[in-house]
Amino acid sequence: MRPLDVGIIGAGTAGAAAAIFLARAGHAVTIYERVPQPGPVGAGITIQPTGLHVLCRLGLYPYVVSRGARIDRLLCETTSRKPLVDLSYATVGEELFGVGLHRGVLFEALHAALAKEKITLRTGAEIVDLARADGRRGRWSWFVDAARDRHGPHELVVVADGARSQLRDDTSTSKRIEPYPWGALWVVANETRAPDHAKASMLHQVVDGNQRFLGLLPTGHGPGPRKGSRLVSLFWSLRCDRIDAWRARGLTAWKDELRALEPEAAPVLDQIESIDQVLFAMYHDVVMHRWTTRNVVYLGDAAHATSPQLGQGCNLALWDAMVLADELAAEEHDLARSLERYTRARADHLAFYQLATRWLTPLFQGDLPLLGALRDVAMPLMAKVALTNRIMTLSMLGVVDGFSGKMLALRLPRDVA
Ligand SMILES: Cc1cc2nc3c(=O)[nH]c(=O)nc-3n(C[C@H](O)[C@H](O)[C@H](O)COP(=O)(O)OP(=O)(O)OC[C@H]3O[C@@H](n4cnc5c(N)ncnc54)[C@H](O)[C@@H]3O)c2cc1C
Repeated sequence: MRPLDVGIIGAGTAGAAAAIFLARAGHAVTIYERVPQPGPVGAGITIQPTGLHVLCRLGLYPYVVSRGARIDRLLCETTSRKPLVDLSYATVGEELFGVGLHRGVLFEALHAALAKEKITLRTGAEIVDLARADGRRGRWSWFVDAARDRHGPHELVVVADGARSQLRDDTSTSKRIEPYPWGALWVVANETRAPDHAKASMLHQVVDGNQRFLGLLPTGHGPGPRKGSRLVSLFWSLRCDRIDAWRARGLTAWKDELRALEPEAAPVLDQIESIDQVLFAMYHDVVMHRWTTRNVVYLGDAAHATSPQLGQGCNLALWDAMVLADELAAEEHDLARSLERYTRARADHLAFYQLATRWLTPLFQGDLPLLGALRDVAMPLMAKVALTNRIMTLSMLGVVDGFSGKMLALRLPRDVA
């Protein structure tokens, strides 16, 4: 594609990755970020082999792998220690693994790479509207900020402002945006288990029906110039309308409940001294009929947020950014046609993960206890059958490309950490 003037809204995972890919392809890129001083905040995420593939293409794989914790296995068990799901990356390929990562490390890696490219980053710029720029050949858009000032115009608009995007109404694209009734409390603490401890390389979940759900994810070293102590993230499922009741009940009662559920969580809980150390995250289910119009493309959570049940959000956002750059590179002149190709290229992969996550979430976080009981019967059976076990493992890897049996091809280094 000829060099375009690209405006990107949001410097999160999707926006930052798209900016790097597009700047390297010769486009003039400006990013608008609402936060005045973006920084490496957040909890643990799992970077799946799909995300690692994209980070390889960006040249960020060695940094991310050296900072994160290698994850070889997902073990989800009931309170009676009955494994519901026990999936190992190596059953698909010996070289495969996930990386438990503090989100701030991904931020640092992407923003260090941004700084090396000719990219203009405008911080403290909350874009609330898009306006057609008249009198220009093709379609260009002004970006309107919260103070009603205009920026741009830009020829290609990349909307990557997250699940609560304010810009989805600016196009005729039909959509459905629903908050999930359940969210998650999370805490980041120092990892006290030795690196060779059996659970230090797995995402470990303990469930009690679909009302109580605890997760422990090792995330390696946190952000910062030096590798500090190793970290672990704890997640706890909570209905959004029960936060006040949870606060009123108090920290001690909550910690006691979690210790009883999973004694391995005790060293993490011991590090929580104030209720303010525990943060709450909500999730949204975002469905857009298509992710592009003539000169606008929606990436990441703005386009297709899900619950984090399958741990795919950042990975999908990274894959979006890579495919957008590839589709622009494959088309010489016609921007609208490139964007149509993008929508087609992403359709199957996103359809699978959106449906799978929507289907799975109420089995783990929901109001119908029957679904939790059904899960306890069905999942161990599915895990025993080779075919369904493989489908579950491939789903975890992030590679299932629709419902026809296609898989995404990955290129990953063999000399793994
Ligand atoms: C509890 C929890 C656990 C998760 N675990 C995982 C996991 O294990 N693995 C995984 O892959 N994913 C996980 N996710 C999902 C993942 O965090 C998201 O999918 C991912 O961050 C989406 O990236 P994004 O760039 O689309 O959006 P975001 O990361 O939300 O970035 C959006 C950016 O846009 C900026 N912005 C917003 N509005 C505006 C505006 N109007 N103007 C300018 N800038 C704006 C924001 O400040 C932000 O910088 C989890 C999510 C939660 C809540």
